[in-house]
Amino acid sequence: MSLQALINASRRYGSDPHLVLLGGGNTSYKEGNILYVKASGHPLGSIDEGGFVRMDRSKLEAIWNQKFSNDDAKREAEVLQVMMASRLEGETARPSVEALLHALLPFTYVVHLHPSLVNGLTCAVEGAKYARELFPEALWIDLVKPGFILADTIRRAMMPLESVPNLIILQNHGIFVGGESLEEIDELYRHVLSTLKSNLKRDVDERSVEIDSTIVDPIKEELKTLFSGEVEYFHSNDTRSLLESAESFYPVSSSFTPDHIVYSGFKPLFVPNADSITKAFEAFTKKHGQNPKVVCVQDAGVFADGEKPLMLFIDTVRISVYTESFGGPLFMTDEMIEFIRTWEVEQYRAKVTT
Ligand SMILES: [Zn+2]
Repeated sequence: MSLQALINASRRYGSDPHLVLLGGGNTSYKEGNILYVKASGHPLGSIDEGGFVRMDRSKLEAIWNQKFSNDDAKREAEVLQVMMASRLEGETARPSVEALLHALLPFTYVVHLHPSLVNGLTCAVEGAKYARELFPEALWIDLVKPGFILADTIRRAMMPLESVPNLIILQNHGIFVGGESLEEIDELYRHVLSTLKSNLKRDVDERSVEIDSTIVDPIKEELKTLFSGEVEYFHSNDTRSLLESAESFYPVSSSFTPDHIVYSGFKPLFVPNADSITKAFEAFTKKHGQNPKVVCVQDAGVFADGEKPLMLFIDTVRISVYTESFGGPLFMTDEMIEFIRTWEVEQYRAKVTT
């Protein structure tokens, strides 16, 4: 029952907030010609057999002999169609968009996660350099479009290598770990996290900062009428330093990874304390065609449109602090942010993940 072993491990990883946020990440197991890979929209922490899709490995392999459109939207739609057709008969769930990568790696088990500590490295200006130094055995992949292009990039990067790396580090995204046993994978994750931890110049400081309710409450009231969900509030020693000025806000002012775009919006709104929040909010919406999901008010704290945006923004703060140890923050490019904002796959993921 190795699928059961994978389910148990997925739940364990998925319940550890240092490793997984909002079910982000995915896992797989191979048995003969079958790939069991996580379906889209199933959080790892509570996953069961129904959260995995069985796929035909030879059909997935055949994808590399096919030609796809150069147009992003068309290509991703074509690839999705082939992936859906590569499922075993009777399967109805939609495989994770990263299924192609799981199929590509010849390991019995693959665990792909987006831990904030790892992303402190992958989203840092000198991330590639530090990755080479700290994890010489790993394959580093520069920022590319997720989905088919990412899988194809890794496939090509692996071609000249003598052996397939069991550690792949993806810029502005996360990490893939493969192994013949789950113990091997656990060991690698422990190694990666402890190495990064011992190389931190400064750790996060999430001790709560109390701001007078005469300042916070009126902002909450104002945002109640602008947000679509509950107004969530957060303020810590880290956010206090970040929210001191527009300049100090820079390390959290854009998107580190696709998860952040999907759940907390492609960027937060920073409002200087003398400005009208409503006016700034409306100007943001007009300019970007969508409401901000996170509003940071100078010296007052972080206000989010519901729990998910807040969790992902707190992750952004953690990553920004960790990047200080690896050369400072490096956001996704504007082109990549635009790609994710309009990508159907991510719109689907935002809808179904609970
Ligand atoms: Zn991922």
